[in-house]
Amino acid sequence: MSDKTRVLILGGGFGGLYAALEFEKRRDPRFEVTVVNRENFFLFTPMLHEIAASDLDLTNIVNPVRKMIRHVNFFCGDVDKIDIDKKEVVVSHGFDRHSHTLEYDHLVLALGSVTNFFGLPGVAERALTMKSLGDAIQLRNRLIAHLEEADTECARAERPPLLTFVVAGGGFAGVETIASINDFLRDALPFYPNLKEEMLRIVLVHPGEYILPELGEKLGRYADKKLRERGVEIHPKTKVAAVRPNEIELSNGEKIVSSTLVWTAGISPNPILDLVPCPKERGRIKVNANLEVESVDGLWALGDCALVPDPATGKYCPPTAQHASREGKVVAQNIIASVYGAPKKPFSFKTLGALAA
Ligand SMILES: Cc1cc2nc3c(=O)[nH]c(=O)nc-3n(C[C@H](O)[C@H](O)[C@H](O)COP(=O)(O)OP(=O)(O)OC[C@H]3O[C@@H](n4cnc5c(N)ncnc54)[C@H](O)[C@@H]3O)c2cc1C
Repeated sequence: MSDKTRVLILGGGFGGLYAALEFEKRRDPRFEVTVVNRENFFLFTPMLHEIAASDLDLTNIVNPVRKMIRHVNFFCGDVDKIDIDKKEVVVSHGFDRHSHTLEYDHLVLALGSVTNFFGLPGVAERALTMKSLGDAIQLRNRLIAHLEEADTECARAERPPLLTFVVAGGGFAGVETIASINDFLRDALPFYPNLKEEMLRIVLVHPGEYILPELGEKLGRYADKKLRERGVEIHPKTKVAAVRPNEIELSNGEKIVSSTLVWTAGISPNPILDLVPCPKERGRIKVNANLEVESVDGLWALGDCALVPDPATGKYCPPTAQHASREGKVVAQNIIASVYGAPKKPFSFKTLGALAA
């Protein structure tokens, strides 16, 4: 058996990858570090909507993990099982999805979040999501396919559902998505001889009083005004209640004739964490200020899947890339400190600012 300290990082998103980059930078031979991630690329989610709207080429927002971490092992595959008693993780990969067992001394949970559909009828089955590169490409393809189909005379009667696009959720992801697709569709329309602006209906459904609550009321209402000026219809204090073929039902009873709902209205922690018996709140793993799970030796968590105390507010850090990437660096430093018996550093970060584009 190797005398190195084995660090296993599950997840190669903002949290996991930045933890790996810190180990990469230090190149300490005492550590053998492995990152497990489903994809072999790092995805810059803040610009995902620009792929959906064809503003950017996809190579602008993905970076190959293998290029970023050359001195850290990378396993491209799925995490299937986590056993914190045996200190083992079962992963699968390959065309036949066969399994391997990886042992560790320190385990970093950075598995992010998944889309939460809240069990609403038809939503999980019919809505598009905006979380992965595949989601953005699928949405872009959908927009183009609907324009092409709607332009044909044979689909004349189907134009209302084809040309009505609804986004649920007025947070960053939803607002940026609706703004991007609105611009994309209106810019593309002149090239379709049978389509007119008044046939387009772009709708944002948001449960709160004003959109972009993260930015405060003044900026939220400003963004609302700007979007309306550009032709977006906004339904505040409203939720999607159900989705059926060519129909989206809202909580106020209104039924929108549309075959496209983009769901950005909720996330929940990665369900694989249900397999990890440790303190949690609403599925997120509770860690102390040093990002360690106090009751489990060698277990650390960060990013969207963790509840990280925020010393500035006395609450928890928000699930953002800004936080996850900085937590990644601190978790690596604290694992190294714990092995060398040095003092650990509590995580502290003040949001630099927020931007909706
Ligand atoms: C559309 C969109 C826009 C956003 N815009 C912003 C923004 O402008 N600013 C900001 O600060 N934040 C933004 N965020 C939030 C930000 O992306 C997250 O807070 C951040 O990614 C969290 O980092 P993480 O490492 O916890 O999770 P992630 O970055 O999601 O990484 C988790 C990784 O784990 C992998 N994984 C999950 N399950 C498994 C499994 N079973 N096996 C193997 N691998 C697995 C995933 O593939 C993923 O690579 C946005 C998010 C979205 C979806």
